[in-house]
Amino acid sequence: MPKVVTAGKRTIKPKLGQHFLSDAGAVAQIINALGDFSGKTVLEIGPGKGVLTAPLARKARRLIAIELDRVLSAQLRMRFALLSNVEIIEADVLAVDFDGLFAPKPGSTRPGMEIVHDPVEVVGNIPYYITSELLLRLFAYRKYFGTLVLMVQEEVADRITAKAGKSEYGIFSATAQLYAQVEKLFSLPPSAFTPPPKVDSAVIRLTIAPRFEELNVPEKEFVDFLRLSFAQKRKTLWNNLKDKYSSDHLRSAFDAAKVKSTARAEELSLEKSAALFRAL
Ligand code: SAH
Repeated sequence: MPKVVTAGKRTIKPKLGQHFLSDAGAVAQIINALGDFSGKTVLEIGPGKGVLTAPLARKARRLIAIELDRVLSAQLRMRFALLSNVEIIEADVLAVDFDGLFAPKPGSTRPGMEIVHDPVEVVGNIPYYITSELLLRLFAYRKYFGTLVLMVQEEVADRITAKAGKSEYGIFSATAQLYAQVEKLFSLPPSAFTPPPKVDSAVIRLTIAPRFEELNVPEKEFVDFLRLSFAQKRKTLWNNLKDKYSSDHLRSAFDAAKVKSTARAEELSLEKSAALFRAL
C-alpha cells in the first residue's frame, strides 16, 4: 500500500505522484493546447480532483478519464454522474485495455473496409515516474491517438524535445521524435501545484506522426537499433554497435552512410541513424 500523508481534510498519496494543479492560468493553457476538441473523444490520464476534467467535459463529445486512486475516481464519478459524455474509469493507465476502449465494435464496419477513426486527443498532468513507460505505451497504440498534451518533469521535457547534437539528446529524444512531432509549450514552478513537487514542470505537446515510412526503416528493428546505439552513453556509437556487428561490416556501413567512426549516437540525426541502419 502506498504511504499516505494527510494534508488538511484530504488524503494525498505521494506514491501515486499526486500533485494537483492549482494554477488557473496553466489549466487554461493546457486546454488551449489541445486545439478545438469539440466533437472529439478525449482521454484524460490521472484526472485527480478534476481540475482539467471539468473544462474538458464541457466541450468533448466523449471524455474518458482514467484514475488509479479509488477514492478520487469515486468522487469524480459522483461529480460527473449527470454528464452522459463523461466516463470515469478506475484503472492503471499502464494496464488499461485501449483496444477495448477505442477499437470499433465488431459488426460496426463491413469486412475489408478500411475505417478511419477520429483520433483520440490525450491530455494529462501525469505522475512523473510513469512518463517514459506511458509514452512508449501510447506510441504502441498510436493508431488511436492524435495529439498528446502532457505535463512532465521539465528535465524530461528538455530531453524529449532536444535536437540531435545537444547534450540532452538521447534515446528518449530519438524515440519520441520518431513517433511524434514534439514541442515544449511552457514551464511551471513547483508552486503551481498542491502539494508542490520537488522539480520544475513543463507541458509538452506530441503530435503523432511516425517517420518509419519516410525514413524507410522497419519499426521494431530500427527502435532496437537506436537502443543499441545509445546503450552506453560514454561509449562511441561504433563501440556500442560492435556487440552486434563485425568491424568490417561496421566500416563499410559507416563509410556508406558518411558517419565518422568516432561519432557518438547523440550526434546523429534520425536521418543519419536511418542511413546507417540501412547500410548495415
Ligand atoms: N490532473 C490532476 C491530478 C494530477 S496528479 C491535476 O492536475 O490536478 C496525478 C494523478 O494521476 C493523481 O490523481 C494520481 O492518483 C493519478 N495516477 C497515478 N498513477 C496512475 C496510473 N498508473 N494510472 C492512472 N492514474 C494514475
